Amino acid sequence: MTTPGMITLALSKGRIFEETLPLLAAAGIEVTEDPEKSRKLILSTNRPDVRVVLVRATDVPTYVQHGGADIGVAGKDTLIEHGGDNLYQPLDLNIAKCRMSVAVRADFDYAAAVKQGSRIRVATKYTTIASEHFANKGVHVDLIKLYGSMELAPLIGVADAIVDLVSTGNTLKANHLVEVEEIMQISSRLVVNQASLKLKREAIRKVIQAFESAIPA
Ligand code: AMP
Repeated sequence: MTTPGMITLALSKGRIFEETLPLLAAAGIEVTEDPEKSRKLILSTNRPDVRVVLVRATDVPTYVQHGGADIGVAGKDTLIEHGGDNLYQPLDLNIAKCRMSVAVRADFDYAAAVKQGSRIRVATKYTTIASEHFANKGVHVDLIKLYGSMELAPLIGVADAIVDLVSTGNTLKANHLVEVEEIMQISSRLVVNQASLKLKREAIRKVIQAFESAIPA
């Protein structure tokens, strides 16, 4: 499955790509093409034995699981939703940090709804995290699966609450939503294909070690 003699790293464009670059630099790896300026999906590096593939953030665990990439960088949220089957997760890279939170319209009394045991309609892309969170609280919810723009759902009456990633809080504020509960802190992790770990042990161990030495505080 994996290409012999070659290390393939799966990354998603944007924050994860940008914040992984310094870790790669610590491993002596420099991506020689700018993903924002090209439509290429396979990027070369200064090392003939290392390449980067660009995939959707939610697809990183899948590519690594199936050996399309030996290693990858994925958010904790993405890994929980994926299930993480057959993935070795040796490092929390402490990058792309944010939090998973519950947010509601400013005029929705979340505490009262929870206390009364009302059924709450929750819109989210993160159904595994949301259902586990509310089950642990003993709150009954109707989950509405969305793929984006979750903030819209409470505004037009489709949901009472959303479960989404929050970084600065600006997106919530712009849509008159308030964060009422933090579910968990999120950061990105290094994931490794199990077979690659055995077949390319030395090369992968070097990458893990270099990444570990460069993790931001
Ligand atoms: P903010 O306005 O800074 O709170 O960012 C919130 C928006 O950015 C939401 O739509 C989130 O889904 C998205 N977001 C924030 N942090 C991350 C992250 N680390 N990874 C992916 N999406 C994020």
